[in-house]
Formats: sequence, C-alpha cells, structure tokens
Amino acid sequence: MIEYRSRRARIIATLGPASSDKAVIRALAEAGADVFRLNMSHGAHEDARARHAAIRAVEAELGRPIGILADLQGPKLRIGRFAEGAIDIAPGHRIHLDMDETPGDAGRVCLPHPEIFAAMAPGTELLLDDGRVRLIIEEVYEGRAFARVVEGRRLSDRKGVNVPNAILPLAAMTPKDLRDLDFALEIGVDWIALSFVQRPQDVRDLKAIVQGRAGIVAKIEKPSAVEDIDGILAESDAIMVARGDLGVELPLETVPGIQKRLTAKARAAGKPVVVATQMLESMVSAPVPTRAEVSDVATAVYDGADCVMLSAESAAGSFPVESVATMSRIAAQAEQDIVYDELIHAHHEETGDSIGDAITTAAGRVAAMVGAACIVTFTSSGSTALRTARERPETDILVLTPNLNTARRLAIAWGLSCVVVPDVSNFAEMVQRAGATAAEHGFARPGDRIVITAGVPFGSPGTTNILRVAIVGQPGGPTT
Ligand code: PGA
Ligand code: MN
Repeated sequence: MIEYRSRRARIIATLGPASSDKAVIRALAEAGADVFRLNMSHGAHEDARARHAAIRAVEAELGRPIGILADLQGPKLRIGRFAEGAIDIAPGHRIHLDMDETPGDAGRVCLPHPEIFAAMAPGTELLLDDGRVRLIIEEVYEGRAFARVVEGRRLSDRKGVNVPNAILPLAAMTPKDLRDLDFALEIGVDWIALSFVQRPQDVRDLKAIVQGRAGIVAKIEKPSAVEDIDGILAESDAIMVARGDLGVELPLETVPGIQKRLTAKARAAGKPVVVATQMLESMVSAPVPTRAEVSDVATAVYDGADCVMLSAESAAGSFPVESVATMSRIAAQAEQDIVYDELIHAHHEETGDSIGDAITTAAGRVAAMVGAACIVTFTSSGSTALRTARERPETDILVLTPNLNTARRLAIAWGLSCVVVPDVSNFAEMVQRAGATAAEHGFARPGDRIVITAGVPFGSPGTTNILRVAIVGQPGGPTT
C-alpha cells in the first residue's frame, strides 16, 4: 500500500543549495512536498539535472507520483554594475540611465534594456531592489534618460528593476529562458512556469514550443496580467499568485485582495492555482513560523487554493524539512476545522453544461448522498479529474490513469490522489479495478460504497459519460 495524503491542499517545495541531496529531497517528500520546483533563475543545468534525477529516484522509492515544475526566470530586468559596487543616494538625487556598460557612479548607471527606454516617458516610475528604491523619470532622450530618486538610500550592482505601469515590448522569453526551456523539456518536467507574463500571447508563445509536453503555469506578478487574468487563464493550465514581484509592482496592501480574486477565478475555471512567496519566510532562519505566517497559509487553504509554495524556506533556509512539515500541518488543520466546508464552498461555481461537467458534478453529490468512501475517477488526460476537483467534494478522490505523466501533473491539483493502472477495456473490469485499487490503497474497505466515473468507449480520451455506484468486494472477489 502506498501512503496517499489525506490533506487536500498540495505543497510545492523549491529545491536549492539547502535541499540538493537525495536524502533531503526524500525527507521533504515524506514531510509533505507533492511537487518540487526547479528555479531556473539560479544554478547551473547540471545541478537541476541532478536534483531531477534525485526526485525521480525518490518517487520510485515512495511509489507515489511526484510533480516537477521548472520555473523560467522570464524577462527579469536589472541595472548594471557600479565602479564601487554600490552608491549612496537620497530622495532628490538625480541620476542618468544609459546603455553604456561602463561601471556606473553617483551620476550614471547602465540600464541595459532598450525596451524600457522605448516604453518610458516623463513620469514613468521605476522600482529597483524589490521596491526599496523608487525612481521617477524626468527626461527621456534616445537610449538615455534622467531620473529623480523618490525613495531609497543605497543602490548596488545588478539590482532588479520593475516597471509596474508599462506593458514592455519584451518577448515573453529571453534567450536564457529558451535554453532553460529546452533543457527542462529534455530532462522531462511536468510543469513549466513562466515569470512576468504580461499578456495571453506570452503564454501562447510558450505553448507553441512546449506542445503539450508539460503543463503551463502563468505566474501572475504584473499589473497587466492581473487586468487580463481571464485571457491569461484561458491560455494556461494553471496560475501562480507570485506575491513577491506582485507586491513590488502593485501596492502591497492590494495583494491579499488580488490573491482572493485570482484564486476564485482559477477555481471557477477548474485550473490549479498556486499561492506563492514568503508563506513561512521567517523559517528561513527559525524553526518555528510567526503567527501571521500560519494565518497566511491557512487563509490560502480556506480560500480553496490548490497549492501553497515554499521558496527560500526549502531552497536556501536552515529548516527546509521543518518548513514543509509545518506547512503540511497548518493545511491539514485548516481542512479539519469546522469552518472549512463553509468557507471553501462560500461561492458556488456555475457548472459547465458538457456531459463531463454533469457527470463530475453529480459524482460529488451522489458520493455525499450515498456516503461513498471515495470517488474513483478514470482519466487519461487528467481533465476529468480536474473537473472533479473543481467541485471540491467532501469525499476523497482517487484518480486512476494509465498515464504516468498525467499522474505526475495532477500532483499540483487539489485533492487528487493518483494511481497508475493499465487501461480497462470493459465495464466489469472498470468496476473491479476501481474497487480493488481503492481497497489496496486504503480509500475504501470491503462492503463500502464507491462512486465511479469513466468514459465509454473505454480508452478514448475526453468521453466521461458514466457514473456508477458500486460496492467494494472482498479481497480477490468482485466489486459489484
Ligand atoms: P520568483 O517568483 O520567486 O521567481 O520571483 C515568485 C514571486 O515573484 O512571488
Ligand atoms: Mn517573481
């Protein structure tokens, strides 16, 4: 028997220097990590390749499908270097920005991005160093501009630049992203995340290359992406509420509301939503989180997010395993609280009108009415399983798929426990396989009712049209 999670919310743990060893990766998976994130912004391909191999080895040892997400850096903008490594500034200080790569000084610094110069005008705001430094553009010339410091004391080499209020004419992917993407597809990952998505076309550009070999997560961290969330969600397989950059690009106090709206939109669309960044930040250096952090993780779970994510906590902190274990306990406790059912179903989603929607919606209701031990969903692409999860049913969902890639990809989604089984070819086999697998993995006992959804003809994707209530048989005996 493989141990599946009783917790429905899923956990993504970012790997890094603190979590490269196979033993640590195994400990993270055992503590509750469902998906591992390879952050392509840092580290060499060879490190990522080794971590990928370690994850797959741990997956084989534990016998439970594990998802791998490669996160592309995207068009991250930075200033150049300073001759002295840094400069001291103060509000009112004026500085030239240009494209000359000579190390800068108090009077000028390189901004090696022609796209920013093309998009700026007097009044454009530039945020540097995660918003610690704020510049307002006063004059713009060909490839050169004059800016006034509004906030900030010090500026050092290669600090990040955010231009919140402009849609920059940037390709969605830099040459580095294209190399990282090729690499990620070559080693084989389940999800590709794209940073700084500005418009639906950015996701389409990525999709044209990925061609279905991985699911696509659009990271929502630009105001323009928040504005066009419907268009971006329509093109993506999942979204991430990337609160780090979002909180630089938009006033910090708007982030909680945006998080709730994005979570609701993704849930309504039946697409996984990940809430990310600084969830347990203090655990980078302490073995226990702050009360506020505990509340933050619980809030995402109460909102019905599919996934909560750890970044530096698991990648570079002193307590990677404790961070995952803590997050897992917080999520599990939130789900057991008596307010959970009420909060998670606070908005009832309109259901689509396809046969698949009708069957999966009915499955949740029927399971509750007949007191089923679990819902067993047969799926090959995973879309029926995601539709079932969209209803956030009270009953456990067991997903049976012949496709290991589907099982790994679904590791990001709310409440789906996946088992890879051979395709079934007839009705009796379907019922038998569902009952036996549910019993084998502890989802049901002999005599329990289970609710099964599947598609006939068997083996043709996208045809969910069967809902069956069955009774689990004795071991070796038939489920009826
Ligand atoms: P990052 O994305 O960690 O790649 O910056 C997440 C975020 O911005 O919140
Ligand atoms: Mn980011």
